Amino acid sequence: MRVLVTGGAGYLGSHTLLELMALNYEVCVLDNYSNATPEVLSRVRSLSNGTVTDYTGDVRDDAMLDRVMAEFRPDAVIHFAGLKAVGESAEKPLYYYDVNVGGTLAVVRAMERAGCNRIIFSSSATVYGEPTYLPYDEAHPTTPKSVYGQSKLMAERILTDWTVANGAASAVILRYFNPVGAHISGQIGEDPSDIPNNLMPYIAQVAVGKRDVLTIFGDDYDTPDGTGLRDYIHVVDLARAHVAALGYAVRHTGARPFNIGTGQSYSVRDIVAAFGRACGAEIPVRQAPRRVGDIAAMQADAGRAMRELNWKATHTLDDMTVSTWKWQSGNPDGYTR
Ligand code: NAD
Ligand code: UDP
Repeated sequence: MRVLVTGGAGYLGSHTLLELMALNYEVCVLDNYSNATPEVLSRVRSLSNGTVTDYTGDVRDDAMLDRVMAEFRPDAVIHFAGLKAVGESAEKPLYYYDVNVGGTLAVVRAMERAGCNRIIFSSSATVYGEPTYLPYDEAHPTTPKSVYGQSKLMAERILTDWTVANGAASAVILRYFNPVGAHISGQIGEDPSDIPNNLMPYIAQVAVGKRDVLTIFGDDYDTPDGTGLRDYIHVVDLARAHVAALGYAVRHTGARPFNIGTGQSYSVRDIVAAFGRACGAEIPVRQAPRRVGDIAAMQADAGRAMRELNWKATHTLDDMTVSTWKWQSGNPDGYTR
């Protein structure tokens, strides 16, 4: 099976390439390197000992998409390419809608022109917004609080309407919870280009001495230790969910959302303690007020993915922190950009 992976040089895409190649899928990447470096694909090639066809280009470029479709003739597309910073999305809403909504629209239109009917889409648990109940299942109301979340929900809508009009089409919508961790080799991992917004990469940079102290945002939430609870999912488990989703897309038409999480949640303090165990040193922390826009707790009901995709997360919290530390300590400055 030939799979076009947009955004394949990114954090989630690169790990997914390795899982696909291990199972002999033929892969092709389209990436504009706005948040990645070609070095990622060199590492993927050497780790897999396989071939990755790659195109440098933008998913909003129709001519480029037509060229990739004609030359690679994918049986399915995994659409990772997009922007993901919640704070930045409020400052640059038009840019976010252009890339995340316009980019998805362009990809699906190119698929339609080429007769490619299967897409796996990177959505986010942030589409749910403030929980009316937890754990979130896929029927939970979707009222995203950010431009980023709205852009993901709009893209989901486009895909859903496409499959209604095109009876042969299949769109598997994966709503990721909090992806963390790195490949077991320590050769690929998350490489934020700026100050990390997310907890795990921030802690990793403190542990390696690039930042002085982790700021814990809020200790007065209605949670057991007062800090925020999240459902962290190991990136390799998440990558494997895409393989499972491809199988599902072959067997089903229509659009279907799936939560990709573990069904377990950990607090900020749990993560700090686990990282301390992984790196063998205490992580310095300071307490600060809540971060604007944060919610107290998020947790997936991952039952649908288990039942219908036949997929389940298997990595533990220690797997997440140990692999992050292996990547960060071996690559203190990330990839050389
Ligand atoms: P990432 O930034 O590491 O990867 C995205 C990749 O897409 C990068 O390689 C970037 O260069 C590329 N890209 C961006 N805009 C492009 C464009 N217009 N044309 C072509 N390529 C483009 O991010 P990631 O963490 O790997 O996330 C992948 C997807 O998953 C994104 O759509 C993101 O919104 C979604 N997601 C991520 C998380 C997370 O916490 N990492 C959570 C939920 C959803
Ligand atoms: N967090 C924190 N300090 C940081 C980054 C995050 O205390 O420097 C907290 C944040 O308030 C939340 C949890 O860690 O409770 C996860 O945050 P992250 O940004 O990684 O994920 P998201 O909030 O998008 O789910």
